[in-house]
This record gives sequence, structure tokens and C-alpha cells, in this order.
Amino acid sequence: MTISILAVLFLAAILAVSFIGFRAIIRQGKSPEDINKEKCSICRTQYHRSQLIARQVGDYRLLHFCQSCIMSLHNEMLSKN
Ligand SMILES: [Zn+2]
Repeated sequence: MTISILAVLFLAAILAVSFIGFRAIIRQGKSPEDINKEKCSICRTQYHRSQLIARQVGDYRLLHFCQSCIMSLHNEMLSKN
């Protein structure tokens, strides 16, 4: 009898842990709205992908730049010349 009670408690504990883990995964998952959003690599502001320009740096790193950061880079370059 004691063993079956322990078994039930053990099962309940496993179910509780898996349920909590499942909910954590759902919360971390990106909503469809967030999938199309990306942070600017310079100012870290979140924009829609269509508003950003992506450039691959090196073999794997993909950087995104927003319009205002590109403009400030552009102005910085112009002020050098
Ligand atoms: Zn930016």
C-alpha cells in the first residue's frame, strides 16, 4: 500500500514538473508577431524585419541595422571627409 502511494506521488511529481516545464517553453516561444521582428545591432531597438538591413559578418553572424543608425553612420562618414 505504501509503495503504491509513493508511486502515485512520484507520478504526480513528474507530471507537475513536466507541466511547469511545458508552460515555461510556451512562454519563451515567440509569437508569430515576434518572429518577424529583430533588434538593431547598434541601438538594440526592436523593428520589423522589413525596416532593417541585414548584413552577414564573418561566417555566421548576421547583423541588422535600422534606418536611424545607418543615417548616423552615414553622417559620421560624411563628417570625416
Ligand atoms: Zn539602430
